[in-house]
Amino acid sequence: MTDPSPLKLKPRTLAAQALGVIEPTTKGIVPPVHAATTFLRDPDNQYRSGYGYGRPDNATVRQAEAVIAALEGADEAMLFGSGMAAATAVVLALDPGAHIVAPRVMYWALRHWLTVDAARFGYRAELVDMTDLDAVEKAVRPGATQLVWIEAPGNPLWTVTDIAAVAEIARRAGAWVAVDSTAATPVFTQPLALGADIVMHSATKYLNGHSDVLAGALAVRDRGHPLWARIGAWRARQGAVLGPFEAWLLLRGMRTLDLRVRAAAQSAALLAQRFSQHPAVAQVLYPGLPSHPGHAIAARQMSGGFGGMLSIRVAAGEAAAIAAAARVTVWKRATSLGGVESLIEHRASVEGPGSPCPPDLLRLSVGAEDPDDLYADLDRALRAASA
Ligand SMILES: *Cc1c(COP(=O)(O)O)cnc(C)c1O
Repeated sequence: MTDPSPLKLKPRTLAAQALGVIEPTTKGIVPPVHAATTFLRDPDNQYRSGYGYGRPDNATVRQAEAVIAALEGADEAMLFGSGMAAATAVVLALDPGAHIVAPRVMYWALRHWLTVDAARFGYRAELVDMTDLDAVEKAVRPGATQLVWIEAPGNPLWTVTDIAAVAEIARRAGAWVAVDSTAATPVFTQPLALGADIVMHSATKYLNGHSDVLAGALAVRDRGHPLWARIGAWRARQGAVLGPFEAWLLLRGMRTLDLRVRAAAQSAALLAQRFSQHPAVAQVLYPGLPSHPGHAIAARQMSGGFGGMLSIRVAAGEAAAIAAAARVTVWKRATSLGGVESLIEHRASVEGPGSPCPPDLLRLSVGAEDPDDLYADLDRALRAASA
């Protein structure tokens, strides 16, 4: 007898078991890597397996997509060769000449692409302070604006956009809402439940979590959304796909997603608190701190934690910030985020001119190490660099 009401499993369980799929031939509890790029046609010329050619069709990629869709409460998910490939696919699925509203504080490479490269395709991106709902309301033009892009929390100041409020403004104007939820992860924020149409992740970061896969993901609330078919067609024809080996590593990484990000968020909260009292630190930017301007919204729209990313502003200025980053040994001086190893970065050096990032800012990605070691290492570096 089958149970009429199967257990509704929590995301942590779904991720830990990669949805519990068993490989049918061997009963392996770990999925194989499906490497085939082409598949046998049936004698009557049909492709009943649903697999024809490797660019659109790969079973390992589809399994990783199913896990991401489950984690986001999405109808469907699509993986791409990188986060940038995923984000740009959303824009390139819009009508030619579409108007886009995007935040001033956002991942710098996408801001650059929207304002420079997308313009060459005829798209008009307008940057606003996404935490100012009046400014968003003014920028969104009914009939012309097709997409409102949100990043929450936003790099590298960890500004918090009210996803539900912006989604409501966009909906009234007939625009779609996409949320870059890379820093929040599906563990702490569920943008689709807050009214977003599409969620985007750089799966390179927390979803994979081990700094060894480059991947991007989109997840959609309703697979019948007019953009979704266009995005799928774009990916299949343009070829911005993820390889099966990367998809397999991503599946493996996501099994510990919940454990990793909760540990990182706990350590980040502890470090944010301790560095708030540090004599060499002028300001700590972390949505979990009551002093952060986005704290009240973050407390409402994030659940279980405020993420593993924070930034500190070094009181003695830019040179001291760079000197402090030069002195750490436990933290690794590197770009990117969301891995089990903690990273430190002088962000203004990366973002260049036109960035809203202050020059005295160090961006910290907190990993899985003991937070006491992380504190001691950076404390020593800050004191020596500010002396
Ligand atoms: C890294 C990152 C991206 C870009 O993703 P890639 O996988 O590097 O292409 C986009 N948004 C955010 C918030 C990121 O951190």
